[in-house]
Amino acid sequence: LGMTHESMQADATTTAVCGYCSTGCGLRLHLRDEEAVGLTPETSYPVNLGMACPKGWEALRVLDSEDRATEPLIRGSDGKFAAVSWDHALRLFTTRMKGIQRQHGPDSVAFLSTGQIACEEMAFLGALAKFGMGIKHGDGNTRQCMATAATAYKESFGFDSPPFTYDDFEQSDCMVFIGANPCIGHPIMWERVLRNQNDPEIIVIDPRRTESAMAATQHLQIRPKSDLALLYAITNHLIACECVDRKFINNHTEGFEKLCEHVSRFTPDAVAPMTGISADAIRQTAETIGRRKAVSLWWTMGVNQSYEGTRTAQAIINIALITGNIGRPGTGANSITGQCNAMGSRLWSNTTNLFGHHDFKDSADREKVASSLGIDPERIPTEPSWSYDGIMDGIRRGDIRGLWVIATNPAHSWIHQSEARNLLDRLDFLVVQDMYHTTETARHADLILPAAGWGEKSGTFINSERRYGVLKKVRRAPGKALADFHIFRALASYWGVEEMFAEWTDPEAVFRIMQRASEDQPCDITGIQGYEQIDRCGGVQWPWTEADAEGDFQPEQQRRLFADGRFYHHDGRARLVVDDVTAMPEAPDAEYPTLLMTGRGTVSQWHTQTRTNKSPVLRKLYPNEAYIEINPEDAAAMGVENGDQVRAQSRRGSLLATAMVTPTVKPGHAFMPMHYEATNQLTLGHFDPHSRQPSYKDCAVRIERA
Ligand code: SF4
Repeated sequence: LGMTHESMQADATTTAVCGYCSTGCGLRLHLRDEEAVGLTPETSYPVNLGMACPKGWEALRVLDSEDRATEPLIRGSDGKFAAVSWDHALRLFTTRMKGIQRQHGPDSVAFLSTGQIACEEMAFLGALAKFGMGIKHGDGNTRQCMATAATAYKESFGFDSPPFTYDDFEQSDCMVFIGANPCIGHPIMWERVLRNQNDPEIIVIDPRRTESAMAATQHLQIRPKSDLALLYAITNHLIACECVDRKFINNHTEGFEKLCEHVSRFTPDAVAPMTGISADAIRQTAETIGRRKAVSLWWTMGVNQSYEGTRTAQAIINIALITGNIGRPGTGANSITGQCNAMGSRLWSNTTNLFGHHDFKDSADREKVASSLGIDPERIPTEPSWSYDGIMDGIRRGDIRGLWVIATNPAHSWIHQSEARNLLDRLDFLVVQDMYHTTETARHADLILPAAGWGEKSGTFINSERRYGVLKKVRRAPGKALADFHIFRALASYWGVEEMFAEWTDPEAVFRIMQRASEDQPCDITGIQGYEQIDRCGGVQWPWTEADAEGDFQPEQQRRLFADGRFYHHDGRARLVVDDVTAMPEAPDAEYPTLLMTGRGTVSQWHTQTRTNKSPVLRKLYPNEAYIEINPEDAAAMGVENGDQVRAQSRRGSLLATAMVTPTVKPGHAFMPMHYEATNQLTLGHFDPHSRQPSYKDCAVRIERA
């Protein structure tokens, strides 16, 4: 009602995409004297169709928090922060980082970035750091959520290319959600699932009885991390009962014989004891997938954040390919991204892939990017960056001594938290660039650079269905806070490389550079006329080439990939990739008998809560104190009742939490939301070997009444 009242006092409106999750909803901002005073979901935006979740509704309120970083802060010898001018802060940044590079080599400085800033800012950061400052190592927090999907797609399809559009939610007659809880993780996508008029079968594969599992037509409550074996067993039965599309396999894939041989030992009977569900249930699931006409398979962090995540994602992709469920309405092997611009990070952050998903190791790619940017190709590193965990290892070894953290919060979110915090304290110089000066990571900083947030700057985000959307400046940033874009621009000048970035005057100028670099890539956006067109068309999905550009992008146009069955490998064929199923690195034992899973706990909180806990409304929708889900049988054995304080302990740390006694988890399992500061005290630092994504879904703990 407050929003409505304020909105009624507005004298104009404009539309921008939301800055939290990868759904990319359109929000109508109600302006008075060009400042946003309220918002409502945009009814004409083709993504959310007039809906928004609580985070979106509260997007403006979190900008007004008292702990906004409003001026640069440096830590004095007494350990306290003092405000300084931008000139002082940027001179300090340059002097200290250059000093470290001089003393320890150019690779002794690294950066950690985010999926939360605009594409143009990611592009600027990546280009400035790598080509301007000579920093080779930099990675994004997208390593924590999406690296697995990106790696899997690249190997299977030849390019990191989620193939779907959101219309597929409404056009499937069978949707399989693996390690995904869209009901709270992507609530507007779930609303679109509910709009499906095809009487769809909705199958949820998840060790927890999540909100989505409760609403599904079938829930396969498997043992944690038995998903890869289960998917191979489903594949085995699809082949055994001839529920496969031989024509599609023969014409468009590579590796079917090897796949058949590999899955032959994963019969439903052999796999059932590993998964905790019956062989009949496995066969029935396979036959449902085989029988239905338009099957879509969706996954998120339950798959990605696993020590064998890439192969699990590829097992999902294999099922879509061998059943011909790709390139048609309602189909696809579809990874749903997490953050509002994780997809932008995958394309433009210049970390593991060279600017626009080129290859650092390929000299032709380096030449092409250099020419798009108007720089000397010699400035482009010939190797990709170390991944996030490699950077943390570099700090441990003393190889990395200066770190620049932009809009992310590793002191809360990185796996095995106490070790991560010790590593941050080992650095000679830590710079944190953020909207808030109170994040757990900012507490370790030597220098804090105050950044504008969503609503206080412009640029583009790319959502999960590859749709560029525009964000707009509808508020003035508080105090001396600057848009990340302008911080990068100022740093280019203080570092002495402003000439290299003479063309990078504003976000839309950078967008044009990105367009040039995208030419002839699968993510080609050379046909986009500019921000005005993206805005007018309700977003534009990549690819949108010059050849596509004769008319406007139509909101109802479905930009699904692979309609012609051609994939991005040189021979046009998708790869069917298989691997061994491996043992869980830290299985429960007598000392630590409970398996802990972590993940998103609510629709109303976001990641480490740096923004969402600033909203009184969002705080009311979720317990402020940490809680842990425990099965009633386990609780009874521990003498614990609902609401009691318990201590959860792993080999790495311990925490106190409130027991939520609930059958959502099976006996022997527990679940704790990642939003609470202490959760990662418990987690084990282990990684998928292909994507280097941390495995947040499995570690052994002991839980006792406190
Ligand atoms: Fe924003 Fe995601 Fe909520 Fe949509 S679903 S309003 S994009 S947080």
